[in-house]
Amino acid sequence: MAKFTNFHVITTLLLLLLCFTSQIYGKEDSGDLGKCGKKLHGGCHDKAKAFKSKLIAIFSILVSSIIGVCLPLFTQAIPALQPDKNLFVIVKALASGVILATGYMHVLPDSFQDLWSICLPERPWRKFPFTTFVAMLSALVTLMIDSFSMACYRKKNDEIKGILFNGAVKDVKSKNIGVHHHHGDVVEGFKDAESQLLRNRVVAQVLESGIVVHSVVIGLSMGASDNACIIRPLIAALCFHQLFEGMGLGGCILQAEYGLKIKAIMVFFFSATTPFGIVLGIGLSNVYSDDSPTALIVVGLLNASSAGLLNYMALVDLLAADFMGAKLQSSYQLQIWSYVAVLLGAGGMSLMAKWA
Ligand SMILES: [Zn+2]
Repeated sequence: MAKFTNFHVITTLLLLLLCFTSQIYGKEDSGDLGKCGKKLHGGCHDKAKAFKSKLIAIFSILVSSIIGVCLPLFTQAIPALQPDKNLFVIVKALASGVILATGYMHVLPDSFQDLWSICLPERPWRKFPFTTFVAMLSALVTLMIDSFSMACYRKKNDEIKGILFNGAVKDVKSKNIGVHHHHGDVVEGFKDAESQLLRNRVVAQVLESGIVVHSVVIGLSMGASDNACIIRPLIAALCFHQLFEGMGLGGCILQAEYGLKIKAIMVFFFSATTPFGIVLGIGLSNVYSDDSPTALIVVGLLNASSAGLLNYMALVDLLAADFMGAKLQSSYQLQIWSYVAVLLGAGGMSLMAKWA
């Protein structure tokens, strides 16, 4: 026991010392802009070794992305996971939690890190919170896309339906006036189901574009790095990352009820982005550096807008839409289980923020 306490004291002291020295070094670093945008050499920085790890990374990340995004698509074959079953609602809540955490825990902090970097001039980058400003605007733009595309579709649809409906009413009226009201209900119900499907489609597509930004960026920074010590452990983290995120996206693609062709395109697009980012990073590794001012600004602004989009989508289109919907509102028990699932998904993805 005494030995254990001693050990504890020593580690605490060591940790304190480490914090102290790193703080001093941190301060020295902040004054040194010369290091920004330059490649380091020696120690972990071994180009050949790093390249081998990157090849492994490309393959394993590709496979885990495909598995992740396809998993929800194949659940249709399992009766308990049909869209109208309780278990499906709970699994979808888990996926929504993953998307929420991707926005808040992965993309937004990345953007802060980029745009508040000491490698950028203090004016204007550290004088104004660009990250939150761009994220806010992006959330508004997402709302606009959402509302305009719905309105546009609805108008078009009403015109077509109006012609059909008027024809039908005339038909019914000429036979039996009593049936008229009932017929109207059927058309209403049909319209609701259809606008729900359209919402799901808009959500799936906008969501994919938001996730793709993050996937390319994490691939890019891995591809451009030649730090072999970091890349190897990062592979496993990125595989899990893509697996989880793929499941979140896959759930939304499933609900969009696309045909095989569009589904395949969306699966391919998501799965290929991180490997594509790595390849791009390798190709640009001589000119691209994570902390060059241009890269920081471009990636930081992209991350900020993708964060706003993901946060809006997760909260409004996925979580609020489900939790305020008829199915969850009708049962407290299902609501509680769904919240547990949201917390699990968001918690797991938050934990992963430690690595990527
Ligand atoms: Zn991430």
